[in-house]
Amino acid sequence: MKNTNDVKKIPHDVTGRIFDIQFFCVHDGPGIRTTVFLKGCPLNCIWCHNPEGISREIHLSFVESKCIGCGACAAVCDVHRFEDGRHVIERSRCTLRGSCVAVCPAGALSFVGRDVTVGEVIGEVLRDRMYYGPSGGGMTLSGGEPAMQPEFMLALAMAAKAEGLNVAVETSGYAPFRVYEAVLPYVDTFLYDVKETEPALHVSFTGVGNRLPMENLRKLYAAGASILLRCPIIPGLNDRDDHFRAIAGLTKEMPNLLGAELLPYHRLAASKSGRMGLPIQEEFRPPSPELKAEWNEKLKAYGARVFEA
Ligand code: SF4
Ligand code: SF4
Repeated sequence: MKNTNDVKKIPHDVTGRIFDIQFFCVHDGPGIRTTVFLKGCPLNCIWCHNPEGISREIHLSFVESKCIGCGACAAVCDVHRFEDGRHVIERSRCTLRGSCVAVCPAGALSFVGRDVTVGEVIGEVLRDRMYYGPSGGGMTLSGGEPAMQPEFMLALAMAAKAEGLNVAVETSGYAPFRVYEAVLPYVDTFLYDVKETEPALHVSFTGVGNRLPMENLRKLYAAGASILLRCPIIPGLNDRDDHFRAIAGLTKEMPNLLGAELLPYHRLAASKSGRMGLPIQEEFRPPSPELKAEWNEKLKAYGARVFEA
């Protein structure tokens, strides 16, 4: 790591857009971590678990189960109305003024996405500092795709490193290599997505090709980065032998990778999309623990170094 002690040069006033900060995360890198979710992603994975992170725009979220039907939102903004007892939100006319959010007594309305400075984020991350050291934890930057906000991602990593925190970056690899090169000195671990190894299928599952992520993976590895491959496995889509074999091939080609971790599909995304009026995604069947174990065994049989959390 270089320049990590020169706190004066840390750009605490750089601003970026996030949609969440989650504390006590134990699956986003080593130890106990605080994960900061940056908004915006160049991919559009059909199984995306964070659909609220894809667009750079701020969304109005409405949780119907919390709504008590008081009508306060409709009284301050005609984007809200009631039809046959149903709460209708005409989102195309919403200007995100926020008067409805301010008057809602039930917490049913909120914004997803906020603009923050690096200093504000690091202030929140440091609240849990006492847990990081003993567990080997720290801060993870996720998304969305954190590399979509390169200056903000870099400033966050620099600021966290200046505080002595362990830094992880979770990425799809879909950004110019110079973005990764710049942040590399401040990152302890890259959690690097390998979503699909067959190029044409990568396009149909994510909307983009996998040439750039694969090139960046090899360049980052050659530059000495510590990398864990993270492979979302969706039953019926990429739980194929050829994909498992190709993942194993990557861990053999790059023996200093930390390994490959399989991430089984889960179904949280549909409810999140509904709250924000986003298109509801296709749902898949989450794998049983037995099936997940079978996948791991298959990967090992193909010679992969499997990382099991
Ligand atoms: S103000 Fe909140 S609780 Fe009241 S109707 Fe609107 S969304 Fe529901
Ligand atoms: S890369 Fe991640 S955030 Fe982006 S669309 Fe895919 S799953 Fe969602």
